[in-house]
Amino acid sequence: MKLIFLGPPGAGKGTHAVKVSKSLGIPHISTGDILREALAKETPVGLKAKAYMEKGELVPDSIIIQIVLDRIKQNDCKAGYLLDGFPRTIAQAEGLDKKLTKLNGIDSVIYFSVDEEVLINRITGRRLCSNCGANYHIRNLKPVKAGICDKCKSALYQRTDDNEETIRKRFSVFKEQSLPLVEYYKKKNLLKEIEASYKSIDEVNKKVLELLAYS
Ligand code: ADP
Ligand code: AMP
Repeated sequence: MKLIFLGPPGAGKGTHAVKVSKSLGIPHISTGDILREALAKETPVGLKAKAYMEKGELVPDSIIIQIVLDRIKQNDCKAGYLLDGFPRTIAQAEGLDKKLTKLNGIDSVIYFSVDEEVLINRITGRRLCSNCGANYHIRNLKPVKAGICDKCKSALYQRTDDNEETIRKRFSVFKEQSLPLVEYYKKKNLLKEIEASYKSIDEVNKKVLELLAYS
């Protein structure tokens, strides 16, 4: 199954992508994670992406489309994949569509719709494990010991772009450049929307699985 998780920053795409990719046995491809890893390793792509990511702007389409097309060519993607945070522009969606034939195109796009004030709370409280990448929240999904990952006992950290100023920029970028994808996938009859503002992680997960059962 080939899936896309679409939604504003902090909507819960990564949280649910981890669960769904595990249960379906398909790789979870997060362009944000790929870029952060490239940045940490100081690869040429990482160094090019740095300034855009710090400002909350989108990395140029040409760079990101190439990253995704290279990734989905790999063997582990033969039975499908879950794209999280890609596409984020119409040009990226068209770049992906051009590569996929009609027969084995995208099966479903799940759009997580969340109110902006809820998103601010989710993003400012998000914490990640510095070793295994596990996702926590200082109020909604607390680790047993503050600042320490339950799974591997490593330190948790806050993303440098998860500050209020950059978040506002990321929201406006989402509205201007990514929201048109809702119509794009609606027209293709692929869009399934979840209103996820006031539902717990478990409730949203149940809804995602229900929607996917009918894809
Ligand atoms: P995205 O990948 O869309 O940017 P994340 O999956 O990282 O968003 O979620 C952002 C933060 O909100 C994380 O700290 C996560 O634990 C928390 N979170 C996700 N979904 C919910 C929810 N339904 N209720 C409360 N907190 C949530
Ligand atoms: P995310 O982890 O999805 O919140 O993404 C973090 C940052 O990485 C974004 O603010 C962008 O700068 C960059 N990024 C991630 N995915 C994309 C994409 N598909 N297109 C352009 N930039 C991206």
